[in-house]
Amino acid sequence: MEEKTGEIPNHTHCRSCAKAIPSDKTFCSEECKQRYLEAVKKQRKTSYIMFGILIALVVGAFVIMLWSV
Ligand SMILES: [Zn+2]
Repeated sequence: MEEKTGEIPNHTHCRSCAKAIPSDKTFCSEECKQRYLEAVKKQRKTSYIMFGILIALVVGAFVIMLWSV
């Protein structure tokens, strides 16, 4: 198999749409940046909610355990 290293200039991919972009950039456009930040914000919110549910479950189980003794 032939290695084609070096043919593609140093590049990375847009974190939002995965388009090839220069390696000193993170996003191909301002729009993609905004979209990505928006997605991260939503994801963080979701993980907070999941964490809250987990805590509630643990506390709930603990309370039930105390009550059943
Ligand atoms: Zn993009």
